[in-house]
Amino acid sequence: MDPRHLFVDQRLIGMCVYCGGTPNTRDHVPSRVFLDEPLPPDVPVVDACEDCNNSFSTHEQYVACLLECVINGSAEPDEVERYKVKKILTENPSLGVRIAKGRTKDDNGKLVWKVEEDRVKTVIMKLARGHAAFQLGLPQLGEPEEISFVPFVVMSDEQRTTFEQGPTSSAPLWPEIGSRAFISAVKSGTVEYERDWLTVQASRYRYFVDQTEGLLIQMVLSEYLACRVVWLA
Ligand SMILES: [Zn+2]
Repeated sequence: MDPRHLFVDQRLIGMCVYCGGTPNTRDHVPSRVFLDEPLPPDVPVVDACEDCNNSFSTHEQYVACLLECVINGSAEPDEVERYKVKKILTENPSLGVRIAKGRTKDDNGKLVWKVEEDRVKTVIMKLARGHAAFQLGLPQLGEPEEISFVPFVVMSDEQRTTFEQGPTSSAPLWPEIGSRAFISAVKSGTVEYERDWLTVQASRYRYFVDQTEGLLIQMVLSEYLACRVVWLA
């Protein structure tokens, strides 16, 4: 058998990667609302159930719109850049009102936004579970040890460097045979674990998967929000 044969897909067939239930649909990771059209040709896709798919979509819309509003300093459809977000805010004005309500000024007169943290966390967990399943063939249905998200603008230079570099280790782990990480390593001529950032769409979405200590998934949304999820082994 050719070890480069990708068997992770077969192993995952029959399971929603978010809840473990019976899948009846497929889901983009990240979901389309975080990307601009035209979509890149190779957006990761995972099996999911319709219940999960539907239950996440309003939260994903909220996060996509919130990010765009914060980046542009406004919750008005005319004043945001991304076409998809303009459209959502126009069709669903109450969402814009809800986001705008969180807009306030701090003690120094700087614009700050109140964030519905649970909704952001829900979306980050979904993204991390999708990447874990797609990239390594490791569905992670349990709760992680760590989940965090922070805008780049409030990170120190040191925090930013640590985040961008990921864990530093002199002993890279070898990927499981048949996983996407293994295949990309074989193609590049080294059988070391692929540790580079993977860009789904420039300036919209990139992610990073590492297994040096447990399983670490990092994501960057709109080059603004740095997200991190860790499951310890
Ligand atoms: Zn599900």
